[in-house]
Amino acid sequence: MLIGMDDTDSNEGMCTAYLAALLADELKAYGTVTGFPYLIRLNPAIPYKTRGNAALGIDLRLFDESDLTLREQVVSHVTGRIQEYAETECDKTNPGAVFIYEEAYDKIKEPLCSFFKKAVTDVIEIEEAFALADAFTTADAFTPADAFKSAGKCAGKCAGLNYFTMKNGRGFIGALAVCGAILNPGWETTYEYAAYRRPENWGNRGGPSRFVDTESLIEADRQTAPETWDTIDFSKKTKPFPVCVPGANDPVLYGIRGNSPKAVKEAAGFVISEEIERFCVFLTNQGTDSHLILAKSCAEIKPLHSYIISGAVFSPAETLGGGHDIFSIKDAGGNVLECAAYEPTGRFRHIIRQLIPGDSVTVFGSFKNQTLNLEKIKINETVKAFQSENPVCPACGKRMESAGQNQGFRCKKCKEKAGEKIQTPAPRRLKPGYYEVPPSTRRHLSKPLIRYTEEEKKR
Ligand code: ATP
Repeated sequence: MLIGMDDTDSNEGMCTAYLAALLADELKAYGTVTGFPYLIRLNPAIPYKTRGNAALGIDLRLFDESDLTLREQVVSHVTGRIQEYAETECDKTNPGAVFIYEEAYDKIKEPLCSFFKKAVTDVIEIEEAFALADAFTTADAFTPADAFKSAGKCAGKCAGLNYFTMKNGRGFIGALAVCGAILNPGWETTYEYAAYRRPENWGNRGGPSRFVDTESLIEADRQTAPETWDTIDFSKKTKPFPVCVPGANDPVLYGIRGNSPKAVKEAAGFVISEEIERFCVFLTNQGTDSHLILAKSCAEIKPLHSYIISGAVFSPAETLGGGHDIFSIKDAGGNVLECAAYEPTGRFRHIIRQLIPGDSVTVFGSFKNQTLNLEKIKINETVKAFQSENPVCPACGKRMESAGQNQGFRCKKCKEKAGEKIQTPAPRRLKPGYYEVPPSTRRHLSKPLIRYTEEEKKR
C-alpha cells in the first residue's frame, strides 16, 4: 500500500518529514518499506506552504497483502500519529493523508501522474483532489467529515483508496501528489540524509541550541562534493555558512543532499554533532528544476508559477533600497518582464548589475507580485558596450581637452579642434554562461549548476 501525507507542521516546530521518518521505522511492524521514503517538493510558489512545500510518502509492502486487518492497523497507526503530532492549532496546518491499495494502482496511476506534475508546477484546488479520490472510494468509505471516528475502521470497505483529513484538509493535495510520484517513476531523483534531534532537545520543547560542528560539515563537503551539494555556502563574506542546518524549532538537525544514498550517507559519516534520535534517507525531487515551465513568451506568465524564459535585457538593473536589484527583459513579441535578484542573493547581484540593454539572457524563477524572482540566469550573448571619450587629436594622437562649456574640444599644442565626444568600445567583463544564486538562498527544487550534465551546460 502507498501512504501519502502532508501539512502537519507549523513554523513553531514539527515537520511532516519527521513524521514520515518515524513512521518508516514504526511501520516495519506491519511490513517492509520498499526503497526509501519519498520527500517530494511541490510548487514552491504556493502561499499555503510553511517552509519548503514538501509532501511525504511511504511504499509499504504488507506482510500479508490480503489481510484487511493489517491494512486497518496501518491506517489506524498512521492517522493516530498524525493526530498526535500535527500542529493543528496553527491556522496554516491542515493535515491530509491518503492510503492507496495495490488493487487500485493500475487505474489510479495515470490520473495521479498528471496530478503529481500539476502539484509541482501549478495550483490545485482542494475540490479537485477530493474529486479524483472519490472516484476510487465507495459511499461507505470514510469521508473528511467522519475521519476521526472511522479512521482505522475503513480499510475493508473501500474500492482502493482511503483518505484522512483534519481541518480544511489541504494537506490531502500533497498526500495524493506524492503517491502520484511513487506510482510514476522516471522523474529525476536525488537523495537527502536527514538527521533528527532527540525530541527533548527540540526548540519548541525548550531544548538547548543545536550543536553541529561546522568544520566537520566542511570536511563532509570536501570529501563528497560534487556528489553532495549545498552542505555549506562558501560565498558568504564572513565565514562558511552551514546551509544544511535549519533554524531553531525544526526537529531536523541537519540534512545532506546528494546524487545517491551512498554519497549522502558517506557525507553524514563525517559530521560531528549532538546525539541524534534517528536518521532517514529520503528519495526526493530536490535539485532537479522540475518546477520550471519552459515559456515561449512573457505574455504566458502567470502568478504562482515558475518559468524558464528567454529575452533581451530591456532596462538595466536598478538597485532599490534594501539592496534588491530589479531589471527587465523583453521577449521577441515585445512583452516586458520584470526580474529581481534580492539582497540575500549576495554576489549574484554583481552579475545582474553588469547586464546592459540588448544582452540576450534566459531567466529561471518563480513569478510573484508581477516579478520573476531569479534562481538562475544564463547569459547567452552580450552586446558591445560603448563609452564616450574626448576625441583624439589627428596631428599628435593625444586626447583633446574641453575648450569650455559648449565649445567642443581642442588640442592646446596642435590647435586642432573637434565638436563632440566620440564613442569607443568599452570592455565587458561579463562572460556568457550560467550564473546561480548562492546555496543559502537556493530553492529546494532548483537545480544547482554543479548537477548540470555537459549536455545541459550547452543548452
Ligand atoms: P515543510 O517544508 O516544513 O514540510 P511545507 O512548506 O511543506 O512545510 P505545508 O505545511 O505542507 O508546507 O503546506 C503546503 C500546503 O499546500 C499543503 O497543504 C499542500 O497540500 C498544499 N499544496 C502543495 N502543493 C500545492 C499545489 N500545487 N496547489 C495547491 N496546494 C498545494
